[in-house]
Amino acid sequence: MRVAWGRLRALTRSHVGSRARWLQLDPWWVMVMFAATATLATAGAWLWTHQQQQQFVHAGAEAALRFVDRRLSAIDIELASLTRDADLPMPLSACPDALVAQLLQQSLASVLVRRFDLVQFGSPLRCEPHGERQAKPQEATAPAGLSIVPGSQLSARPVVLRPLPRGAVLQATLDPYALALPRTELPSSLLTVPLRIVVQSSPAGAQPIWDTRPHPGSTPAALTATASSTMYSVSVRAQLDQGDLDAAIRRQALWSIAITWLALTALVAAAWNRAVRRARLSHRLQLALRQRQFVPFVQPIVDLASGQCVGAEVLMRWQHPHRGVLAPGEFIDEAERSGLILGMSDLTMRLAAHQLAALAQAEPRLYFSFNITPGQLREHDFPRQLAQIFGPATVPRSQVMLELTERDFVDPAACAVLAALRADGWRIAIDDFGTGHSSLGTIEQVAIDRIKIDRAFVGTIDERTVNRPVLDAIIGLARDLGVPLIAEGVETRSQWDYLAARGVASAQGYLMARPMAVADFVRWYGRQQPGAVAPMLPDTQRALWERMRSPGGLSVRNRLHLHRLRVYRECFVGAQAVDWIVREQRVSRAEAVRLGRHLLAAGLICHVSNEHDFDDDWLFYRLVPPPAETPLGPVTTASLRQALLAASDFPWRNHCRGVVRHNHCATGCELVDWIVRRQGATRAQAVQCAGYLMRSGALRHVFDDRPFRDDATLYRLG
Ligand code: C2E
Ligand code: CA
Ligand code: CA
Repeated sequence: MRVAWGRLRALTRSHVGSRARWLQLDPWWVMVMFAATATLATAGAWLWTHQQQQQFVHAGAEAALRFVDRRLSAIDIELASLTRDADLPMPLSACPDALVAQLLQQSLASVLVRRFDLVQFGSPLRCEPHGERQAKPQEATAPAGLSIVPGSQLSARPVVLRPLPRGAVLQATLDPYALALPRTELPSSLLTVPLRIVVQSSPAGAQPIWDTRPHPGSTPAALTATASSTMYSVSVRAQLDQGDLDAAIRRQALWSIAITWLALTALVAAAWNRAVRRARLSHRLQLALRQRQFVPFVQPIVDLASGQCVGAEVLMRWQHPHRGVLAPGEFIDEAERSGLILGMSDLTMRLAAHQLAALAQAEPRLYFSFNITPGQLREHDFPRQLAQIFGPATVPRSQVMLELTERDFVDPAACAVLAALRADGWRIAIDDFGTGHSSLGTIEQVAIDRIKIDRAFVGTIDERTVNRPVLDAIIGLARDLGVPLIAEGVETRSQWDYLAARGVASAQGYLMARPMAVADFVRWYGRQQPGAVAPMLPDTQRALWERMRSPGGLSVRNRLHLHRLRVYRECFVGAQAVDWIVREQRVSRAEAVRLGRHLLAAGLICHVSNEHDFDDDWLFYRLVPPPAETPLGPVTTASLRQALLAASDFPWRNHCRGVVRHNHCATGCELVDWIVRRQGATRAQAVQCAGYLMRSGALRHVFDDRPFRDDATLYRLG
């Protein structure tokens, strides 16, 4: 366990780096985290259950009151009917026969009431269903309205009193369960809650009507709720005992504790994980900066009227050792948050300043844009740093444009630095115009050279969304300010036309070119010049070809050519090669086709039957083995090809294979013999040489497309 724990700690330490020690798994930290979440979960569960039980008690009282009101109304009606007709001379000195008879009849008929009596307070006379009776006079006073005299327990008989004039009352002795609450009267959620519900008309005594407590009276009441009747002077009180509440909290809170605990743990773990990931990224960025893995890419900016390249934006890329070239979207936020962006920008600018120096000096009308952040502006010696980066043998400062994005707020101090930079001869552009803080104030104070429209607005041209008028407004605003515009993210011809028609000066976007390495940009620029022959340097051809051949490179397979039912060995399709070059070189498709043609012209790839130029199509090509391995050298092979095509001395014959007759062909052995004789080569060299002749299209297998063999296989001239 201790070993595993140690390993885990070592693992996190190695990934989060020294700046985020607090993120390492520490046993104390983990225990505190667990204790905190458990305490929070328990408190939350206690509150939740308490609240829920309180609601149950309230609901119980309300439901019971509705029932009691109904029952008392029924009893009240029966009581009222007893005296409705009898005009009794109160106080009574004797019970009228009619009254006694009515008491008996009503007692027999009633379902809820066991018997009805008439009692006079302070007098010994009682009228009962079986006649009059003298009893000990009751000293209490008659109640003001309908009231209940409770029995001592649920099964005892409660009595309902209805006052009559002059201290007399009609008394209804109820059936033991006449007021007992039926299960159907309560919501089902309350049936399992241990509640005691009583009804009472005076604080003196209460009649229990519901009791589901497992241990009645063992603990005091914890939660109570009272509901008072609006019809009678009675109220209903529901109570939950402390012991039952505790049990409910323990039982019902178990789940909520578990769920809350799980949720909290998941939340803390997610936040921790995010923090670790950020710390790791920050650590890796630090290492990458130390190992100088950040390189500049450039994306051309072209004039919309002439189509000529007028400049380029320098964009940072992370040359990741395992993941290849990464765009800033993957790391720029963390770089800015951690402040590493300063070092990264410095490195990228320095590299770009040197790599672009020759082109910038040869083409003084080109400018190069560099993205800067407000953080850089706040560095007190930023102007000095800039001057040092763009020293004498680099890009002249008149050709450097500093792009400040509108997404960040430019405070007055930064604005003053910008103005000073502008006065020093650097050019300034506002990037992502219209997306963030209004930079009109900045534009007023600093003589801005360019405004860049964010690609979100350019994208609206084809989509006709609500932002389209915003684009037109930005164009109009820039025209009024007299600042030339650069549109970003131009991907379609219609976007180009729309922007050009509205007088936007220049644009950058995938339509023209994607961001590319500086060397590729220099070549791209060369090819864009009128009359340029677009050379591809031999070392670049060779490097591209080597990557094509490498194990992770272009996939070369045996392919079935359905049209002629031929199987071409070890070849690839033009469209597939174009895909590969686009990915590998980060160039447009047209550019990839051009590169493919260079490779073909240089003899590094060939068409399987030497019929076609390189095309982005379903045509078959092969990689040509390195010329250095050619036994007789490329010149000899070419002359041999000529000789074989002339072939006056070569014995082409008709051969039969089964019922199939092949005209004008030779066996592999005959061809090898001829080459050996003619070139004075060894047999192995001759076989290799014939292989080249086949690949160059001078020789063809009669039926299939197998490699050349020194045997009875038949070949004919291609
Ligand atoms: P940004 O300055 O607005 O750069 C333009 C982004 O739009 C680039 O993304 C570019 O590749 C992309 N883009 C250009 N044309 C098209 C198009 O036609 N379609 C689409 N979908 N995208 C296009 P990238 O290179 O990923 O850069 C993203 C952001 O990272 C930049 O936005 C900039 O804010 C920041 N960034 C890049 N390099 C640097 C740098 O060296 N320093 C600083 N501080 N920030 C940088
Ligand atoms: Ca930019
Ligand atoms: Ca931008």
